[in-house]
Amino acid sequence: MADVLEGPYFMISDRKYYSGSVAYLGQADDEVEELAAFHADGTPFPGSSSWSGVTGGSGHIATFSVDAPSAASSGDPVSISYDNAGTLEELAIHIVVVKVTFRKHPDQVYGFDDNPAFIKSNGNKFCYPFYNTSPPKDGIPWKSVEVGKSDAVVAEISPVGVGNKVFLVSNTPQFLASPNAVSTSEISFAVQAGTENSEGLITASLGQEDGLSGGWLRLVSFPEVEKRIFLIEVYNAEIDPVSQALLPEQTEMNNQVSSIYNEGVVKLLIGNHILENSDYDLIPYNQIEIPESGTYSTEMMSIYENCVLCEEVISLFDQEEVWFIFIVDLPTYQNGSPFDIQGRFDTELNYGFVFLNNHSESNIINTTAHEFGHGIFDLKHPFSEFNPGYDSPCLSNYDPSGLDPNNVMDYNQGIFMLFRRYYWSKMH
Ligand SMILES: [Zn+2]
Repeated sequence: MADVLEGPYFMISDRKYYSGSVAYLGQADDEVEELAAFHADGTPFPGSSSWSGVTGGSGHIATFSVDAPSAASSGDPVSISYDNAGTLEELAIHIVVVKVTFRKHPDQVYGFDDNPAFIKSNGNKFCYPFYNTSPPKDGIPWKSVEVGKSDAVVAEISPVGVGNKVFLVSNTPQFLASPNAVSTSEISFAVQAGTENSEGLITASLGQEDGLSGGWLRLVSFPEVEKRIFLIEVYNAEIDPVSQALLPEQTEMNNQVSSIYNEGVVKLLIGNHILENSDYDLIPYNQIEIPESGTYSTEMMSIYENCVLCEEVISLFDQEEVWFIFIVDLPTYQNGSPFDIQGRFDTELNYGFVFLNNHSESNIINTTAHEFGHGIFDLKHPFSEFNPGYDSPCLSNYDPSGLDPNNVMDYNQGIFMLFRRYYWSKMH
């Protein structure tokens, strides 16, 4: 693109801005951009020059803070001038600092990991693998898409009114963003994945397609994998309507667990069953015993051992791996005392447990997704996986449980649940 302008100019990040032009700069926390003023022949403005619109200008160089988006789309005027033998020579531009934030679309099909850093009480910053991605900027979000499919993302642009100066540019033909030109302050756009399992980067370019960057979105595509699972309600005696009323509706349960696994481009084939008169309460205290270690008690194991249905299912899907979750009605006990536990999955086995124990419907759904994560993909709790002594590329160790309440594999239960980017890879 031929630049027809000439005359004195500012240099900002190796780009020239002539008088009267608008410079669109990307927002960056705790950062400044350096502005340097030059005559048309490339010689610097004299040391006697004075600045306006910036603080700390000295000689031909000044700095401009880009730690927050501009308040208005017209930006901030910045100029440098000097007295050239009685004639005022002036170079003036407007600077607009832009921030483009990518967010999860409410109707997305696959995954979105906002990829924040977690600050622990001791001030240490924890991040997951895939946190510091290229370009080297903190916390770039990740989006998953099935190979050959597309999904929706939201881009939010500040300040209001600069939307038409933002272009969404992909670094690979394996991903396309459409529309790729933004017109308003918040848009939904589609990310289309190509035919290969690959990674990509969408850059929000400012001012023009090869402009400075106002934000990034990392992309990864996977071919879909299918997993066959069975959710089995287990009653020690006959179906207890009071216990059953605590459970989510089957379709609700199936849809929500499926949608969590879609984030990792995993399709769950879910079967639902009910086991009555399972007679697992072997030591008859009207409770189910939970051992201290992560293994199963005789009572727990008896549910699987007496599950004729499970044998039938396994023989029916002879060549396939299948996993079972038993949703168990009686209260959980450990060493004679009530013991509140939501679920357990011994990863050596193909069956795990979710315990009703008056847990809420969302608890039961999230726990089911969590236990299958252990069982099917051998996913670990982040507070175990990233504890001291474990190999982690992160800045510091994770350590406490519940630091990331929206993470399916952490404890605590946030308002929405997600599998983070590093789990997506473990599912493929
Ligand atoms: Zn767990």
